[in-house]
Order: sequence, then structure tokens, then C-alpha cells
Amino acid sequence: TLSDRLSDAFKNLRGKGRLSEADIDATAREIRIALLEADVALPVVKDFVAAVKERARGEEVSQALNPAQQVVKIVNEELVEILGGETRRLRYAKSGPTVIMLAGLQGAGKTTLAAKLALWLKEQGRTPLLVAADLQRPNAVNQLQVNGERAGVPVFAPEPGNGVGDPVEVARQSLEEAKRKLYDTVIVDTAGRLGVDADMMAQAAAIRDAVRPDEILFVVDAMIGQDAVVTAQAFLDGVGYDGVVLTKLDGDARGGAALSIASLTGKPVMFASAGEKVTDFDMFHPDRMASRILDMGDVLTLIEQAEKVFDEEQALKAAEKLSGRGGEFTLDDFLEQMQQVRKLGSMQKILGMLPGMGQMREQLENFDEREIDRIQAIIQSMTPAERANPKMIDGSRRARIARGSGRQVSDVNSLVDRFFEARKMMTAFASGKMPGTPGMEGL
Ligand code: GDP
Ligand code: MG
Repeated sequence: TLSDRLSDAFKNLRGKGRLSEADIDATAREIRIALLEADVALPVVKDFVAAVKERARGEEVSQALNPAQQVVKIVNEELVEILGGETRRLRYAKSGPTVIMLAGLQGAGKTTLAAKLALWLKEQGRTPLLVAADLQRPNAVNQLQVNGERAGVPVFAPEPGNGVGDPVEVARQSLEEAKRKLYDTVIVDTAGRLGVDADMMAQAAAIRDAVRPDEILFVVDAMIGQDAVVTAQAFLDGVGYDGVVLTKLDGDARGGAALSIASLTGKPVMFASAGEKVTDFDMFHPDRMASRILDMGDVLTLIEQAEKVFDEEQALKAAEKLSGRGGEFTLDDFLEQMQQVRKLGSMQKILGMLPGMGQMREQLENFDEREIDRIQAIIQSMTPAERANPKMIDGSRRARIARGSGRQVSDVNSLVDRFFEARKMMTAFASGKMPGTPGMEGL
């Protein structure tokens, strides 16, 4: 994965204060590969990587994140930004029915989406009307009717007398129908062709001029990959649109099309369609799409959590201790570390998804909050001198501590043993020999 490769690229970074030019170049190469693998269009990849390099140059090496994570974080933020930042909402007409028109190639998922969108609007208390303005294929009207039925939304379709054979006329009449019967949202399904085609564009443009939509949504299959930009540009020139809907996200496409289209057209991706059922539909979430493009699963969530949990001051203190300047690792430090681990406990599930975290996952699966409470009680029954210098905790002190904390002497013994074990590992950890989090063994 990208995260593995970035970790490799950063093997030598430890101890530097700033990301170096060579580190940034190595990273840029990896990001480039990841984006191309996600089917992002080449010109978009180039611009994007340049922007990330620019930003990485100015960045201090973070205390909370390792350099690989830090670059992933920058990449992620830039991706989210291009994908539209906050999710853009539908604009509704101030008076009269809101008109939403769908455009896109045949097979993109327009008819399926029309019903999904209708159901979604209905659930928000609106009263939508579906309009069958695809008269190209013999079965198209029927398909919309079947989908409309699943969504429980009526379909306006050509009948003798209401513009049979002319999609522009059907669309126009649907507006009359909506006004008459007080539908507040009209969703116009249109015809597509297998490829970009002048007749199709002309027809879509004529429908657009007849109904003057509040929103034109360009519907595009996430699986078409590199071709997405060509199609998106053709529809932008031929019909124009306000937003993009990405379909078939239930497939294994990494979603590079979203980035390509958003970046080249500047139009936000508004909805995501992920399945054939009428309920497989959601607002588009730029952050989720960014992590899909990066193929990093929950790494991004982990980064976010790590930053939250990690107190910078504490990091500095720990760094001082480890480098020996702040004196030895004490029982107070040990307790503090346990409390950090408790915060991390909420990350249990996330950690399960991470590569290379097997050892830590096992520890967290056995993680027991009450055990930390017991450790805390024992350490708090020690004097400050004992905590700072655990070597002085002899037999009679152990008996006193056990009484004070309501535990057995054997509990105190095992805690002290565990502390010395952890201290040994902290030293190894500081010299870079030890992966994982010391002090968590056996929790
Ligand atoms: P249109 O030609 O643009 O109207 O596309 P359709 O709505 O007819 O969809 C074409 C095919 O893709 C149909 O077989 C749909 O069932 C399928 N489809 C549409 N959206 C999705 C989706 O989000 N996921 C999956 N797996 N299939 C979809
Ligand atoms: Mg259709």
C-alpha cells in the first residue's frame, strides 16, 4: 500500500527537523504511483503532486506523526479540498417545482439514480415526480417505471397525447403536471449513448432549455477510469452541469474519476451511488473518497486519532526522557503511559485494520480498563520518592503499598516487575530496536 511504500521512503528521516527535498521527492514518486493506480488522469496527477510537494516543503516534522503519516495527511487534506471540501447540498427553487435534470452516457446509472434520488428526497419530506425523458431505448420508460415503483414515487411518462416520441415535449409537460399536482421536485431522466455523440448532446441541451433546471447533474460510472475526464468535459461543453454523481462505487474502482473530474471541471461531486438497490445511495463524502483513492483504509482515521490523543508537551517530555536528559523513566511516567493507552483503547477497532500492527492489536484485544484502574491505585499508594526511584521499593514498602491500595502483595510485585520490564523496553525503543508500545504487554 501507499503507506508501506511511504514508510520505506522515510526510513532515513528519523531525527531530522524538516522534510528534506530528497524525502519529498521520494514521497512524490509514491503518491504519483498511487494516484495513477487509482485511475486519476495524468495531468491531474501532475498538478496534484506539485501542490503536495509545495506544501510539504514548508512543513515542520510533526511530533505526533511519523513523516510518512505526515505526508499522507497532507495528501489527504489536498484531496479532500479538491473533491469539494464540505459536501455540497442541492439547491431548491425558491418558488415552483425544483427541477433536477440528469445527464450522462448510456449505462452510467441515470435511471437507477433517478429513483434513488427520488426516494432520498421523499424521505426528507419532499414530493418528487420522476420524468421519463429517455425515449431512445424501447425499454427505458418501463425501466424508470419499475424503479419508480420501488421508490414509491410516481413517474410521468409519454402517453398518447402528451408528446409521444418527443422527450423535450414530455419534459415540458411534466412541469405542467408538477405544478398542477403540487409535486415540489421534478427529476428528469434523459437518454444517453454509449459514447459522446452530437445528437445526444443536442437533445439534452434542448431538454435543458425546455425545463430550465435548478440543478443539472452529470452522472458518471466510477469504473470508467481514465475516460472519465473526456466524457466529463464533453458534457460540460455540450450541456453544462452543476454537480457530479458518481455511480457503481460498490465496484472495485478506486475512484480516481472523482478526483479527475472535480479537478478538471471544478464541479463538486454531490452524490454517490453504490449498488443496484434503490436505497444504495448517499451524499458524497470527500473525506471517504480521499481515503478510497489513497487506498489507505483506516490509516487516515488513525492519523487523526493519533494527533488527538497525542499531547505535544507530553511528547517533548517523553523525548527528553528517552534521550536521557530528563532522567530515568519512572513509575509516574509508567502511569501516564497507561493512561495514554486507555485513550488509545477506543482505537481498538481501527488498529485491527492496520498493516504491521498485529502485535499491538493483540495487546489491545486483551486490553482491560479495570487493569489500568488497579495499576493506578497501586502507583498512587506509593510515595513520590518511591515512584521516582522504584528500586527502593523493598518488602516492607510493598506490604504497605498493598494495604494502601487494597491489593495483594503479589499484585504489587507483579506491577513492579512489569515496570522494570517496561523500562528496559523503553531504552531499547529509544535506541530504535523495538517496535510497538512498551508497557502494554499483558494488559
Ligand atoms: P442509464 O443508462 O444511465 O440510465 O443507466 P441505468 O440506470 O440503466 O444503469 C445501467 C446498469 O448499471 C443497470 O444494470 C443498473 O442496475 C446498474 N447500476 C446503476 N447504478 C449502479 C450502482 O451504483 N452499482 C451497481 N452495481 N450497478 C448499478
Ligand atoms: Mg436510463
